[in-house]
Amino acid sequence: MEKLIITVAPTGKKATKKHHPRLPMTPAEIADEVGLACQAGASVVHLHVRDEQGHDSHAPEIFKEAIELIRQRCDIIIQISTSGGIRETMEERLAPLALQPEMATLIAGTVNFQDEVFYSPKPYMELAARKMREYGVQPELDAMELGAITNAQALVEQGILSTPLHFNLLFGLPGSIPASPKNVLTMVEALPAGSTWQLSAAGVWELPLATLAILLGGHVRVGFEDNLYYRRGAKADSNAQLVERIVRLSRELEREVATPTEARKILRIR
Ligand code: ZN
Repeated sequence: MEKLIITVAPTGKKATKKHHPRLPMTPAEIADEVGLACQAGASVVHLHVRDEQGHDSHAPEIFKEAIELIRQRCDIIIQISTSGGIRETMEERLAPLALQPEMATLIAGTVNFQDEVFYSPKPYMELAARKMREYGVQPELDAMELGAITNAQALVEQGILSTPLHFNLLFGLPGSIPASPKNVLTMVEALPAGSTWQLSAAGVWELPLATLAILLGGHVRVGFEDNLYYRRGAKADSNAQLVERIVRLSRELEREVATPTEARKILRIR
C-alpha cells in the first residue's frame, strides 16, 4: 500500500484559547506547532490564519508571515484554506493563492456549518479552480457530502480541473455527512477512479475513522481544527501528540508514513 500522508490542521476557523490554551493563533505560534507536528511525522499542514483579534482571516500578508516562519522550521507541504462564508468576497478568499503555496483547499459545494455556511457555489468553484491552475497550486477538494464529488467531476468535464483528483472527505461536522464507517465506504466508493483521498472527522470520530482510512489506503488529517481531545474527557497536549498517535497506529498496521518529499510525489505536486 502507498505510504500514509498525515496532514496536521492545527488552528481551524473557530476555536480559540478558551477551547484549548495551546491552540496556535499567531503566525509564530502556528509555526512552532507545525514544526513539532512535522518532526512527529506530518507531511502536510492545512493552514488557517487569524487576524490580531483572533478572527479567521484570508489576509495574504498574515499567510505570508506564517508560511515564512514555517519554512524556517521544516519542509512540510503548505496547504492554505480558502474556505469562507457569505460575508467574504470570492476575491478575498482567493487572494492568498498569489503566494503560490503548493496546495490549497477548494470546497466542492456549499454546506451548512453550525449557524453559518461553507459557501461554495459553482461560479466560486470555477474561479477557484482556474486561479489554482494559474498559480500552479494543487487543489484539495473538500467533500462534505456525496454531491461534492459530482460537483468536482463537473469541473473535470468542463476542463477546469485535471485528473487524477485529490479529495479531503470530512465527516461529522454540523451540516456535513454524519461520521460512520458505512458513510466512509459510501464516499470512497463514489470517488472517480484514480483519485487520492484523505479523511478528516470531527471530535470523537477522528481516531476510529482515521484508523479506517489507514486500512482502506486513504490518507489522514488530524489536529485541533477537527478535534481537541486525545481521549474522552482529556484534551490532547499538542497537535504533534495527535500526529504521533497516527504514526504509531499506521506502523502497527504495517503502513509506512510518507515524508514531505514522498508526499509530494503521491500528491503529484510539481
Ligand atoms: Zn480548514
